[in-house]
Amino acid sequence: YVKLDSSLRSPVCCVLGHVDAGKTSILDRIRRSRVAAGEAGGITQQIAATLVSIEDIAAETVSINRSHNFTLKIPGILVIDTPGHESFSNLRTRGSTLCDVAILVVDIHSGLQMQTIESIKLLQSKRAPFVIALNKVDRVYGWKSVTNSPFKDSLKVQTEEVVQEFEKKMEAVIAELAMQQVNAVPYYKNKDFRKCPAIVPTSAVTGEGIPDLLLLLPLLSQKFLGDRITKRDTVECNVLEVKVQDGVGSTLDVLLLNGSLNRGDKVMLCTLNGAITTKIQTILESSNMKSTSGVQRIEGAIGARLICKGAEKTLAGTELHVIGPKTNEVELKKKARRDIDSVTNFCNRPVDHVEAELETATSYLSSGSNGGVHVQASSLGSLEALLDFLKVSDIPVGSIGIGDPNKKDVMKSSNGYKCMLLFDVHISNPLRKIAEDSGVTIIAADVIYHLCDEFRQLMRTRQM
Ligand code: GDP
Ligand code: MG
Repeated sequence: YVKLDSSLRSPVCCVLGHVDAGKTSILDRIRRSRVAAGEAGGITQQIAATLVSIEDIAAETVSINRSHNFTLKIPGILVIDTPGHESFSNLRTRGSTLCDVAILVVDIHSGLQMQTIESIKLLQSKRAPFVIALNKVDRVYGWKSVTNSPFKDSLKVQTEEVVQEFEKKMEAVIAELAMQQVNAVPYYKNKDFRKCPAIVPTSAVTGEGIPDLLLLLPLLSQKFLGDRITKRDTVECNVLEVKVQDGVGSTLDVLLLNGSLNRGDKVMLCTLNGAITTKIQTILESSNMKSTSGVQRIEGAIGARLICKGAEKTLAGTELHVIGPKTNEVELKKKARRDIDSVTNFCNRPVDHVEAELETATSYLSSGSNGGVHVQASSLGSLEALLDFLKVSDIPVGSIGIGDPNKKDVMKSSNGYKCMLLFDVHISNPLRKIAEDSGVTIIAADVIYHLCDEFRQLMRTRQM
């Protein structure tokens, strides 16, 4: 069923949905074949973007594809998973062109929840095609699981009562989706994938429905993404995560969407202190993180880890630019400068050339020095997502920051609500002490939803 079209790149796939719907579990299922096949010894260091190859997808979908006879043309699917981040914030990373297709995970027993609705809004605004994984079907009362089977085969072995129970639950979710202007249809009945997002009943625990999901993602991509996943030579590379590793130095987890990167390439990166130039010392492919020497060259779309000297201040969510012999460095620096300005201005209140997407974000800042909480997140993307969420939750924001907080951030927080919301960043113990001494409460979490809950809790106790 595989006939590669060399003009196509792998689409980028995000997994969205409410906390505990099963996003991580589904991701693990999707990557399982790759991990099992390629990485003896199991889990190595996780990287933010993993390529699931088309060979693996073909192998997992053999039996279900017998009836569909669908030709797989894309080289694979690049799934994004930044540990610690809630997936939906990835969608909001700079350039927000990153996510091509998505899986919206809905717990069949809980139906639509707050983050499900947020995710739907994001997908609608991006017009990204998506499938709905109606997850945890194995918990439908009386369900007989058939491990790793296509969903229809699983449905066949259920009793009539179980089928009825399942359908009742699915209908309820379909009705809730309709209220969000989503005309979802079970994929095996779907006649128009463009108008109607497909529902795939799944279980991340038993693997039921996962082959169906793995077949639908290439199908949607090949049918609807067209030009969007046609390979381009110009380098498009986004920094997803920045880490400092002992004995290695600074590493950048990047998503190379288009073009290629070579060991030794001179690159420009955006840091809070301005644009810097450095060299790519080592390129580690996500499929072979154990290698120490890495590879000479990578081509998009792929996730990789780069080791670059002096890159530890790079802002996650910004672009990596390659400086070639013909590059106009002055122009490039201006471009990088705009990227950085939009971040720093954003932190120090609005200036007119803030880009449109950030303009909306700055409007969240309440006026006057007395309003709001201090918000600190790991990347521009996650900060934006967090600000979105705080706005919906009516929590006023007084100041913001990106990356691990420093003393200045703590001091900023001692105005207004005397509260710091930290999302996916680390605060040192000495800083905690300073905060404590200034009467600043620190709320830290890796789940946006939890931050808001804890904040409300804090406000309640303060009022008492
Ligand atoms: P996330 O917060 O959306 O990433 O959700 P997780 O993948 O962490 O799953 C939350 C919980 O639900 C975990 O305890 C999982 O084991 C469980 N879970 C996830 N998918 C399924 C499923 O299909 N069936 C059952 N029974 N449990 C599931
Ligand atoms: Mg998770």
